[in-house]
Amino acid sequence: MATPDHIHDHDSGEGLVPVDEARERVLSTIKPLQPLALPLTEAYGCVLAESLVAERNIPDFASSAMDGFAVRSSEIASATTTAPVELRIVGRAVIGERPEGTVGGGEAFAIATGAPVPAGADTIAPIETCEVAGGHVRVLAPSIGGKHIRPSGEDVRAGETLVQAGRRLQAPELGLLATAGFAHPLVHPRPRVVVLSTGDELIPPSRNPDYGQVRDSNAYTLFAALREAGAVPTIAGIVPDDVNAFKEVVFSHLTQADAFISSGGVSVGERDVVKAAFFRRGEVDFYRVAMQPGMPQGFGKIEGKPYFGLPGNPVSVFVSFETFIRPALMKMMGRRHLFRPEVTARLEEDVTGPIGKTQFARVRVRRTKDGWVAAPTGGRGSNLIATVAKANGLAIVPPGTQTAPGGSQVRVILFRSMED
Ligand code: AMP
Ligand code: MG
Repeated sequence: MATPDHIHDHDSGEGLVPVDEARERVLSTIKPLQPLALPLTEAYGCVLAESLVAERNIPDFASSAMDGFAVRSSEIASATTTAPVELRIVGRAVIGERPEGTVGGGEAFAIATGAPVPAGADTIAPIETCEVAGGHVRVLAPSIGGKHIRPSGEDVRAGETLVQAGRRLQAPELGLLATAGFAHPLVHPRPRVVVLSTGDELIPPSRNPDYGQVRDSNAYTLFAALREAGAVPTIAGIVPDDVNAFKEVVFSHLTQADAFISSGGVSVGERDVVKAAFFRRGEVDFYRVAMQPGMPQGFGKIEGKPYFGLPGNPVSVFVSFETFIRPALMKMMGRRHLFRPEVTARLEEDVTGPIGKTQFARVRVRRTKDGWVAAPTGGRGSNLIATVAKANGLAIVPPGTQTAPGGSQVRVILFRSMED
């Protein structure tokens, strides 16, 4: 790491931090965010920080599964169409109300689907097997005890665990917690991430560039990648190559941020303000990772909040996000699986990269009857943003391999679902 840049050979891995080690440096300092009690709509997608136990049975009252009559099964055991059992209708059980009274010998309660079963009754005679005449019902068929009744606790018994700590709250879990009355579960919140773009040359996407100006794309790449990961991004805007301006934007967002990402300004150029801004603080380290794209990286903490200083090139930003930031966010969110799925695929063409580094080659993978196949989407330049847009995977060409030949097998990180 002490190798001076002017004598550095950019293709050798000498003096560079291996990707796995750099990622481990990052992840070892990241902790899940402090749990918060959030309303269900905000807790959606978050990881539960406590196991939740049912306080009551679900459902917590026995109800009828049919329209008909709540009766005693013993009384209608002999009922047939030729010898019906006649019972007196003494009440009516309706949805949402506690039935008044008890079903006694020779008695029945009219009952609607979903209505609580009155005391004394142990079965439902469905309306299809009954004839109603005045205040009486003739039951034409038997119905054994418990039939057509949804018992209390059928779904969950009081004391049972509903959702374990560590589970992510998706649609089924959210519905279950709502049922059980956990309206504000304790979850790891979504990280609020402030995104800064550094560079005097940058202009917003809505403007037409003067000669040499560049539209800020990184903010939008990061915004979308953050959203997709489950974080809450804020674009803090374009910051000129000025140390004080940069510091001001970072520090003015401190109270609203759980993490920061900047792009640009971390290499060795004169204008590399990000490095300069943290030069004396010692909390942010800048190092060179043995990867292409994405070699220069800054990482550290500002007031305890993770700070990621990415290089400016658009592909470097995307690959750095995937490699370092996304797993870190997953950890902040309390997720168990930090990494994207990978497949082994057969390369359709040669992929050449720097011998000493891990190369992340943009590829389009598809499944064939002979397994996964990966086609490179373009050159390896870290400015070639369109190569990412065409891709759905990053093929990994490990250090020590200059060229992964067409036909060889490579590992591919899938960064989109196959339907997209
Ligand atoms: P830097 O790391 O600041 O030296 O930037 C490296 C390259 O990335 C330069 O060509 C920059 O113009 C470009 N760049 C930096 N920031 C952005 C950005 N936010 N959007 C698009 N390109 C950028
Ligand atoms: Mg710059």
